[in-house]
Amino acid sequence: MGSIGVGNEIHVVIGGAFPFCNTVVVITSEELVVIDPGCPIEELRSLLKNHNLELRDIDTVILTHIHPDHIAHATKLHRLSGCRIAANEMTASLFNDKEEMKKFLGFHKKHPIRPLWEELVNRSMYGALEDGRVDEELRNGDKFAVGNLTLRVLYAPGHLPDHMCIEFLEPNLIFASDIDCTRFGPFYGHENSSIPEFRESIRMLKKRDYKGMISGHLQEPLIVDHRNALSEYEKHFDRREEAVLKSIGDGAETIEELSINPIVYPPLSDLVLLQFEKWMIEHHVSSLMEKGLVEVVNKKLIAMFPESST
Ligand SMILES: [Zn+2]
Repeated sequence: MGSIGVGNEIHVVIGGAFPFCNTVVVITSEELVVIDPGCPIEELRSLLKNHNLELRDIDTVILTHIHPDHIAHATKLHRLSGCRIAANEMTASLFNDKEEMKKFLGFHKKHPIRPLWEELVNRSMYGALEDGRVDEELRNGDKFAVGNLTLRVLYAPGHLPDHMCIEFLEPNLIFASDIDCTRFGPFYGHENSSIPEFRESIRMLKKRDYKGMISGHLQEPLIVDHRNALSEYEKHFDRREEAVLKSIGDGAETIEELSINPIVYPPLSDLVLLQFEKWMIEHHVSSLMEKGLVEVVNKKLIAMFPESST
Protein backbone atom coordinates (compact mmCIF):
# COMPACT_ATOMS: atom_id res chain seq x y z
CA MET A 1 0.00 0.00 0.00
CA GLY A 2 1.09 3.61 0.29
CA SER A 3 1.58 5.86 -2.68
CA ILE A 4 4.15 6.67 -5.33
CA GLY A 5 4.97 9.74 -7.39
CA VAL A 6 4.80 9.19 -11.15
CA GLY A 7 5.52 12.76 -12.18
CA ASN A 8 6.26 16.04 -10.45
CA GLU A 9 2.69 16.65 -9.46
CA ILE A 10 1.12 13.27 -10.18
CA HIS A 11 0.80 10.65 -7.47
CA VAL A 12 -0.84 7.24 -7.29
CA VAL A 13 -2.34 5.96 -4.05
CA ILE A 14 -2.06 2.20 -4.27
CA GLY A 15 -5.41 0.54 -3.76
CA GLY A 16 -4.46 -2.50 -5.81
CA ALA A 17 -6.86 -5.33 -6.53
CA PHE A 18 -10.68 -5.23 -6.42
CA PRO A 19 -12.55 -4.22 -4.21
CA PHE A 20 -10.09 -1.27 -4.19
CA CYS A 21 -8.51 0.59 -7.08
CA ASN A 22 -5.50 2.82 -7.59
CA THR A 23 -6.33 6.49 -7.15
CA VAL A 24 -4.49 9.16 -9.14
CA VAL A 25 -3.94 12.41 -7.26
CA VAL A 26 -2.79 15.59 -8.97
CA ILE A 27 -1.40 18.12 -6.53
CA THR A 28 -0.59 21.55 -7.96
CA SER A 29 -0.37 24.88 -6.22
CA GLU A 30 -3.70 25.83 -7.81
CA GLU A 31 -5.80 22.69 -7.69
CA LEU A 32 -6.11 19.31 -5.99
CA VAL A 33 -7.64 16.68 -8.26
CA VAL A 34 -8.45 13.08 -7.35
CA ILE A 35 -9.21 10.55 -10.10
CA ASP A 36 -11.15 7.39 -9.18
CA PRO A 37 -11.39 7.66 -5.39
CA GLY A 38 -11.54 3.92 -4.65
CA CYS A 39 -8.29 3.47 -2.70
CA PRO A 40 -8.41 3.01 1.09
CA ILE A 41 -9.38 6.47 2.33
CA GLU A 42 -6.66 6.47 5.03
CA GLU A 43 -4.00 6.06 2.34
CA LEU A 44 -5.37 9.07 0.48
CA ARG A 45 -5.48 11.06 3.71
CA SER A 46 -1.90 10.13 4.45
CA LEU A 47 -0.61 11.22 0.99
CA LEU A 48 -2.38 14.56 1.36
CA LYS A 49 -0.99 15.02 4.87
CA ASN A 50 2.53 14.64 3.47
CA HIS A 51 1.74 17.68 1.31
CA ASN A 52 0.17 19.62 4.17
CA LEU A 53 -3.27 19.03 2.72
CA GLU A 54 -6.47 17.40 3.95
CA LEU A 55 -9.38 15.58 2.36
CA ARG A 56 -11.40 18.78 2.69
CA ASP A 57 -8.94 20.56 0.37
CA ILE A 58 -9.92 18.44 -2.65
CA ASP A 59 -11.22 20.63 -5.49
CA THR A 60 -12.22 18.06 -8.09
CA VAL A 61 -12.99 14.35 -8.28
CA ILE A 62 -12.95 12.72 -11.73
CA LEU A 63 -14.55 9.31 -12.35
CA THR A 64 -13.35 7.11 -15.24
CA HIS A 65 -16.44 4.87 -15.17
CA ILE A 66 -19.31 3.80 -12.95
CA HIS A 67 -17.83 0.67 -11.28
CA PRO A 68 -18.29 0.77 -7.50
CA ASP A 69 -14.59 0.15 -6.77
CA HIS A 70 -13.74 3.36 -8.69
CA ILE A 71 -16.43 5.68 -7.32
CA ALA A 72 -16.60 4.46 -3.70
CA HIS A 73 -15.58 7.69 -1.91
CA ALA A 74 -16.81 10.27 -4.45
CA THR A 75 -19.95 11.34 -2.60
CA LYS A 76 -18.23 11.30 0.81
CA LEU A 77 -15.43 13.53 -0.52
CA HIS A 78 -17.98 15.88 -2.05
CA ARG A 79 -19.81 16.16 1.28
CA LEU A 80 -16.56 16.81 3.12
CA SER A 81 -14.87 19.22 0.72
CA GLY A 82 -17.64 20.55 -1.52
CA CYS A 83 -15.49 19.38 -4.45
CA ARG A 84 -17.03 19.20 -7.89
CA ILE A 85 -17.44 15.76 -9.41
CA ALA A 86 -16.63 15.32 -13.11
CA ALA A 87 -17.37 12.32 -15.32
CA ASN A 88 -18.29 11.60 -18.92
CA GLU A 89 -21.89 12.04 -20.01
CA MET A 90 -22.73 8.34 -19.72
CA THR A 91 -21.14 7.86 -16.29
CA ALA A 92 -22.78 11.10 -15.12
CA SER A 93 -26.33 9.93 -15.76
CA LEU A 94 -25.60 6.61 -14.01
CA PHE A 95 -23.93 8.29 -11.04
CA ASN A 96 -26.91 10.63 -10.69
CA ASP A 97 -29.41 7.76 -10.65
CA LYS A 98 -28.14 4.69 -8.82
CA GLU A 99 -31.12 2.57 -9.95
CA GLU A 100 -30.00 3.25 -13.54
CA MET A 101 -26.46 2.32 -12.50
CA LYS A 102 -27.65 -1.03 -11.15
CA LYS A 103 -29.60 -1.75 -14.34
CA PHE A 104 -26.60 -0.71 -16.46
CA LEU A 105 -24.47 -3.25 -14.58
CA GLY A 106 -27.07 -5.97 -15.24
CA PHE A 107 -28.57 -6.02 -11.76
CA HIS A 108 -32.15 -4.99 -12.49
CA LYS A 109 -34.66 -5.06 -9.64
CA LYS A 110 -35.60 -8.73 -9.98
CA HIS A 111 -32.16 -10.11 -10.69
CA PRO A 112 -31.62 -12.94 -8.16
CA ILE A 113 -27.99 -11.96 -7.49
CA ARG A 114 -28.72 -8.24 -6.96
CA PRO A 115 -29.08 -8.39 -3.13
CA LEU A 116 -25.77 -10.25 -2.83
CA TRP A 117 -24.03 -7.80 -5.15
CA GLU A 118 -25.43 -4.84 -3.17
CA GLU A 119 -24.24 -6.48 0.03
CA LEU A 120 -20.75 -6.91 -1.44
CA VAL A 121 -20.67 -3.27 -2.57
CA ASN A 122 -21.91 -1.97 0.78
CA ARG A 123 -19.46 -4.13 2.70
CA SER A 124 -16.33 -3.53 0.63
CA MET A 125 -16.98 -0.35 -1.40
CA TYR A 126 -19.15 1.54 1.04
CA GLY A 127 -20.49 4.79 -0.38
CA ALA A 128 -20.65 3.66 -4.02
CA LEU A 129 -24.44 3.33 -3.95
CA GLU A 130 -25.09 6.61 -2.15
CA ASP A 131 -26.99 9.34 -3.95
CA GLY A 132 -24.72 11.93 -5.53
CA ARG A 133 -24.47 14.28 -8.48
CA VAL A 134 -21.94 14.92 -11.20
CA ASP A 135 -21.32 18.66 -11.56
CA GLU A 136 -19.40 18.65 -14.80
CA GLU A 137 -19.78 16.41 -17.83
CA LEU A 138 -16.70 15.54 -19.86
CA ARG A 139 -16.59 14.38 -23.47
CA ASN A 140 -14.14 12.42 -25.55
CA GLY A 141 -11.19 14.64 -26.48
CA ASP A 142 -11.93 17.33 -23.88
CA LYS A 143 -8.75 19.00 -22.66
CA PHE A 144 -8.48 20.89 -19.43
CA ALA A 145 -5.70 22.43 -17.39
CA VAL A 146 -4.79 21.44 -13.84
CA GLY A 147 -2.06 23.86 -12.78
CA ASN A 148 0.52 23.61 -15.55
CA LEU A 149 -0.62 20.14 -16.60
CA THR A 150 -3.02 19.42 -19.43
CA LEU A 151 -5.38 16.48 -19.02
CA ARG A 152 -7.33 14.95 -21.90
CA VAL A 153 -10.31 12.62 -21.90
CA LEU A 154 -9.98 9.46 -23.99
CA TYR A 155 -12.99 7.16 -24.32
CA ALA A 156 -11.94 3.52 -24.20
CA PRO A 157 -15.07 1.32 -24.00
CA GLY A 158 -15.33 -2.46 -23.75
CA HIS A 159 -14.70 -3.07 -20.05
CA LEU A 160 -17.96 -1.14 -19.77
CA PRO A 161 -19.54 1.17 -22.38
CA ASP A 162 -18.76 4.26 -20.24
CA HIS A 163 -15.09 3.43 -19.56
CA MET A 164 -12.58 6.19 -20.30
CA CYS A 165 -8.91 6.92 -19.73
CA ILE A 166 -7.26 10.20 -18.75
CA GLU A 167 -4.15 11.34 -20.61
CA PHE A 168 -1.60 13.70 -19.05
CA LEU A 169 -0.16 15.47 -22.07
CA GLU A 170 3.02 17.09 -20.74
CA PRO A 171 4.61 14.23 -18.89
CA ASN A 172 2.93 12.08 -21.60
CA LEU A 173 1.32 9.58 -19.26
CA ILE A 174 -2.04 7.88 -19.37
CA PHE A 175 -4.22 6.65 -16.54
CA ALA A 176 -5.71 3.61 -18.28
CA SER A 177 -7.99 2.72 -15.35
CA ASP A 178 -9.44 -0.76 -15.97
CA ILE A 179 -7.34 -1.48 -19.02
CA ASP A 180 -5.22 -2.45 -16.08
CA CYS A 181 -2.74 -5.05 -17.39
CA THR A 182 -3.15 -7.27 -14.32
CA ARG A 183 -2.28 -10.97 -14.37
CA PHE A 184 -5.99 -11.70 -13.88
CA GLY A 185 -6.59 -10.23 -17.34
CA PRO A 186 -9.34 -8.06 -18.80
CA PHE A 187 -12.69 -7.93 -17.02
CA TYR A 188 -15.86 -7.81 -19.16
CA GLY A 189 -18.27 -9.37 -16.71
CA HIS A 190 -21.44 -7.46 -17.54
CA GLU A 191 -24.04 -7.94 -20.25
CA ASN A 192 -23.08 -4.62 -21.84
CA SER A 193 -19.33 -5.22 -21.71
CA SER A 194 -17.87 -5.99 -25.14
CA ILE A 195 -14.83 -8.06 -26.11
CA PRO A 196 -14.51 -6.45 -29.59
CA GLU A 197 -14.69 -2.93 -28.13
CA PHE A 198 -12.24 -3.83 -25.35
CA ARG A 199 -9.77 -5.17 -27.94
CA GLU A 200 -10.26 -2.06 -30.09
CA SER A 201 -9.52 0.17 -27.06
CA ILE A 202 -6.34 -1.84 -26.39
CA ARG A 203 -5.30 -1.46 -30.04
CA MET A 204 -5.90 2.29 -29.79
CA LEU A 205 -3.62 2.59 -26.73
CA LYS A 206 -0.94 0.48 -28.40
CA LYS A 207 -0.82 2.91 -31.32
CA ARG A 208 -0.07 5.83 -29.04
CA ASP A 209 3.31 6.78 -27.65
CA TYR A 210 3.32 7.16 -23.90
CA LYS A 211 6.19 7.54 -21.50
CA GLY A 212 4.17 5.46 -19.10
CA MET A 213 0.77 3.96 -18.47
CA ILE A 214 -0.83 3.96 -15.01
CA SER A 215 -2.87 0.85 -14.20
CA GLY A 216 -6.04 1.05 -12.14
CA HIS A 217 -5.22 -2.13 -10.22
CA LEU A 218 -1.53 -3.08 -10.33
CA GLN A 219 0.37 -2.85 -7.04
CA GLU A 220 3.22 -1.35 -9.07
CA PRO A 221 1.01 0.90 -11.13
CA LEU A 222 3.42 2.53 -13.57
CA ILE A 223 3.95 0.49 -16.74
CA VAL A 224 6.84 1.76 -18.85
CA ASP A 225 6.54 -0.55 -21.88
CA HIS A 226 2.79 -0.25 -22.34
CA ARG A 227 2.74 -1.93 -25.77
CA ASN A 228 4.32 -5.12 -24.49
CA ALA A 229 2.13 -5.15 -21.36
CA LEU A 230 -1.01 -4.68 -23.46
CA SER A 231 0.01 -7.47 -25.86
CA GLU A 232 0.41 -9.86 -22.92
CA TYR A 233 -2.89 -8.67 -21.46
CA GLU A 234 -4.72 -9.25 -24.73
CA LYS A 235 -3.66 -12.91 -24.80
CA HIS A 236 -6.17 -13.61 -22.01
CA PHE A 237 -9.04 -13.10 -24.47
CA ASP A 238 -7.72 -15.87 -26.75
CA ARG A 239 -6.74 -18.18 -23.92
CA ARG A 240 -10.20 -17.93 -22.35
CA GLU A 241 -11.94 -18.31 -25.70
CA GLU A 242 -9.97 -21.48 -26.46
CA ALA A 243 -10.92 -22.84 -23.02
CA VAL A 244 -14.62 -22.13 -23.68
CA LEU A 245 -14.43 -23.82 -27.09
CA LYS A 246 -12.64 -26.83 -25.64
CA SER A 247 -15.22 -27.13 -22.89
CA ILE A 248 -18.06 -27.08 -25.46
CA GLY A 249 -16.14 -29.64 -27.52
CA ASP A 250 -15.88 -31.79 -24.38
CA GLY A 251 -19.65 -31.77 -24.00
CA ALA A 252 -20.73 -28.65 -22.08
CA GLU A 253 -24.03 -27.67 -23.71
CA THR A 254 -25.15 -24.60 -21.75
CA ILE A 255 -23.68 -21.54 -20.03
CA GLU A 256 -24.54 -23.23 -16.69
CA GLU A 257 -22.50 -26.28 -17.63
CA LEU A 258 -19.66 -24.12 -18.93
CA SER A 259 -19.42 -22.28 -15.63
CA ILE A 260 -19.16 -25.47 -13.55
CA ASN A 261 -15.44 -25.54 -14.35
CA PRO A 262 -14.61 -21.86 -14.10
CA ILE A 263 -12.55 -20.40 -16.89
CA VAL A 264 -11.99 -16.87 -15.61
CA TYR A 265 -12.18 -17.10 -11.82
CA PRO A 266 -10.66 -19.71 -9.51
CA PRO A 267 -13.05 -22.45 -8.34
CA LEU A 268 -16.13 -20.56 -7.39
CA SER A 269 -18.01 -20.38 -4.15
CA ASP A 270 -19.08 -16.75 -4.48
CA LEU A 271 -22.38 -16.24 -6.31
CA VAL A 272 -21.55 -12.67 -7.39
CA LEU A 273 -18.27 -13.81 -8.99
CA LEU A 274 -20.14 -16.74 -10.55
CA GLN A 275 -22.52 -14.23 -12.17
CA PHE A 276 -19.55 -12.29 -13.58
CA GLU A 277 -18.06 -15.58 -14.81
CA LYS A 278 -21.31 -16.44 -16.62
CA TRP A 279 -21.53 -13.04 -18.31
CA MET A 280 -17.91 -13.28 -19.43
CA ILE A 281 -18.47 -16.80 -20.80
CA GLU A 282 -21.58 -15.56 -22.63
CA HIS A 283 -19.43 -12.97 -24.41
CA HIS A 284 -17.03 -15.70 -25.51
CA VAL A 285 -19.87 -17.93 -26.70
CA SER A 286 -21.22 -15.02 -28.80
CA SER A 287 -17.77 -14.41 -30.19
CA LEU A 288 -17.34 -18.12 -31.06
CA MET A 289 -20.76 -18.15 -32.75
CA GLU A 290 -19.82 -15.13 -34.83
CA LYS A 291 -16.70 -16.97 -35.94
CA GLY A 292 -18.77 -20.01 -36.89
CA LEU A 293 -16.99 -22.18 -34.33
CA VAL A 294 -20.06 -22.77 -32.16
CA GLU A 295 -23.73 -23.22 -33.06
CA VAL A 296 -26.89 -23.60 -31.05
CA VAL A 297 -28.90 -26.70 -31.97
CA ASN A 298 -32.05 -27.47 -29.98
CA LYS A 299 -30.93 -24.88 -27.39
CA LYS A 300 -27.66 -26.75 -26.90
CA LEU A 301 -24.20 -25.44 -27.71
CA ILE A 302 -22.33 -27.50 -30.29
CA ALA A 303 -18.69 -27.00 -31.27
CA MET A 304 -18.11 -26.89 -35.01
CA PHE A 305 -14.73 -28.11 -36.13
CA PRO A 306 -13.99 -26.73 -39.58
CA GLU A 307 -11.40 -29.47 -40.30
CA SER A 308 -13.84 -32.34 -39.81
CA SER A 309 -17.02 -30.66 -41.06
CA THR A 310 -15.88 -30.41 -44.69
ZN1 LIG B 1 -14.17 -1.21 -13.79
